[in-house]
Amino acid sequence: MREFLPPGWGVQGERGIAFVITGPSGAGKSSVINELLRRDPRLTFSVSATTRPKRPDEVHGRDYYFVSQQDFLRLRDEGKLLEWTEYQGHFYGTPREEVERKLTTGKDLVLNVEVRGALAIARAGIQHPVVLIFLVPPSWEELVRRIEARGTEPPEALTERLRIAREEVQLIPEFHYLVVNAVLEGAVEEILCIVRAERRRLVRWSG
Ligand code: 5GP
Repeated sequence: MREFLPPGWGVQGERGIAFVITGPSGAGKSSVINELLRRDPRLTFSVSATTRPKRPDEVHGRDYYFVSQQDFLRLRDEGKLLEWTEYQGHFYGTPREEVERKLTTGKDLVLNVEVRGALAIARAGIQHPVVLIFLVPPSWEELVRRIEARGTEPPEALTERLRIAREEVQLIPEFHYLVVNAVLEGAVEEILCIVRAERRRLVRWSG
């Protein structure tokens, strides 16, 4: 490929790309991401830190770094988080050093963050391409159904998640891609197409 290009040019896939997957609660981010990671071995999950209690099926260091509030605030205050947010009474944040290290070693990263966190990552000034993907369920009705089906939360939390979702969809125009998650397999296939296309995007490397 090199021989066809002028000096300094390449394709984006030669270096690490951050694929940020976001969307309202109930869009199916976690299921989609698990399937993406299974289907494309070049993708690596970016593990966030959180103060939320661990759910039974979750593993520390795989799904999240489960930390105390004190430790989280220390990480934040020492500038070790690329972005952070408080969501439903718990803190969530993206570890800066880990993201930068993985991208620098040429790994493509998948990040699961809420909507404002996704936009914050795009603005955080990391020296790698950031691709912003917004995932939505096929309808509001379906979104409500999916959140209710979780059954892990009291009714006030459900109402709160819906209120947040209404605000979040207002921000869709700030994203690069919109994917509808009606059937898991279809959404995954579409995102894999986006991943492949982004890797072939021509870029002029500055360094
Ligand atoms: P859950 O508690 O259901 O795992 O996640 C709640 C929300 O927090 C989800 O929308 C998830 O995408 C978001 N989230 C997880 N990690 C991070 C993070 O590091 N930063 C931000 N901003 N949001 C996160």
